[in-house]
Amino acid sequence: MSAFKSTVSAKQLRDWDNAHVWHPFTAMSAYVDEHAPIIADADGFDLIDVDGRKYLDGISSLWCNVHGHRVPEIDDAVRAQLDRVSHSTMLGLSSEVSIRLAKALVDITPGNLTKMFFSDSGATAVEVALKLAYQYHQQKAAPETARNTFISVGNAYHGDTLGSVSVGSMDVFHRTYSNLLFPTVAVPSPIATRVPDGYDRDSWLRFCFDRATELVTENHHRAAGFVIEPLVQGAAGILVHPPGYLKHIRQLCTEFNIPLIADEVAVGFGRTGTMFACEQESVLPDLMCVAKGITGGYLPLAATLATNEIYEAFLGTPDAGRTFYHGHTYTGNPLGCAAALASLQRFQENDLLDNVSASAELITEQLGRLANHPNVGEVRQKGIMIGIELVRDRQAMEPFGAALRVGHQVTVAARRRGLIIRPLGDVVVLMPAPAMPLSLIQKMCDTTIAAVEDVVSQLE
Ligand SMILES: *Cc1c(COP(=O)(O)O)cnc(C)c1O
Repeated sequence: MSAFKSTVSAKQLRDWDNAHVWHPFTAMSAYVDEHAPIIADADGFDLIDVDGRKYLDGISSLWCNVHGHRVPEIDDAVRAQLDRVSHSTMLGLSSEVSIRLAKALVDITPGNLTKMFFSDSGATAVEVALKLAYQYHQQKAAPETARNTFISVGNAYHGDTLGSVSVGSMDVFHRTYSNLLFPTVAVPSPIATRVPDGYDRDSWLRFCFDRATELVTENHHRAAGFVIEPLVQGAAGILVHPPGYLKHIRQLCTEFNIPLIADEVAVGFGRTGTMFACEQESVLPDLMCVAKGITGGYLPLAATLATNEIYEAFLGTPDAGRTFYHGHTYTGNPLGCAAALASLQRFQENDLLDNVSASAELITEQLGRLANHPNVGEVRQKGIMIGIELVRDRQAMEPFGAALRVGHQVTVAARRRGLIIRPLGDVVVLMPAPAMPLSLIQKMCDTTIAAVEDVVSQLE
């Protein structure tokens, strides 16, 4: 049977999927028996599988979709670009649409960021930021060559390439590679869901602020940069930082001349209620990484934005060797740039941030129904990023055993009810598109609560 036949049965596709496709972040031995939906089409905020079943996209196709699927203006922009050129290189050459996008993005990101370096995923945007920060100290007017490590936040996630993994600290994902990683300094994640013995919520958070001060002070001579997910640590389970933390880190970085690298890959493009999370604490990062939502969730594209000060350290005669020798082949792909430009225009024209704020309010109200549920340890939310942590015992915050895969079971139950979500361990994550209408937000909340009930009622 040939893959090029015009129609291939759903059964055949499933067999080929199981025979040939290795899925990311997926336990394959379980996956092959799960009959996960095979998506073939989309319509607005719904995904449609090969059997014609419709599912509401409750995680924005992994945190990237912004305006829904098959948005006429974005489709048209990509089609128009197809009629011109699909790809040309950015290495020593430019493209019309990439220049327009750089201008549009620099106009809306924090004012001190004037330069935009393209790449194609969140991980590469972070790699670029790390290498830029490191090289900047080697080449700036008064070089500081001892700045050869990075400070990051406990439980951070910055992507899956080895540099990004080095500044990450999610044990389950990262421990296998520990011998391959460069050493970093991690400050404790300022989260009080569970606090160590001897602390209460407030004293633990105070400790985290103070410990960051200590570690930055002790390590500033060797710190090439401080990498942070502003306001929300997404992959760690939608951990929401207390107000003032980002500003605190900004102040420390300023005091010790450490470039602040804001990884806005997840939080950027409206998810926390503002276009970029840094705006909420009036923080100006020295480097900023964007990806996921940049194209409205259409195509792989990313960018690292930098200040003039960092950029200037890379100038000099071409033979001086100060050039940034880094680039990915599809960097600044015109189709991706065209989608991104159309997405940014829709952002401006549709008052999307108003919709985000109305959605966030409705979600808070609806998920309030879980507030006293014995198996809901915590409902965390910032804007339209939501994590519902399921536990065996709410009082003791005792987790379910990992083997039960409770979070995964909720995902499967939600699919049966027509909703696509994906958990992080036993944290049920909801990440609706910023443009999702309130009626669908309501449906997403109702279905999620019902799916949680389906699963926990079977466990006791
Ligand atoms: C998803 C994510 C990344 C990685 O992005 P990819 O496009 O998957 O490489 C990096 N940082 C944060 C904060 C993320 O959420």
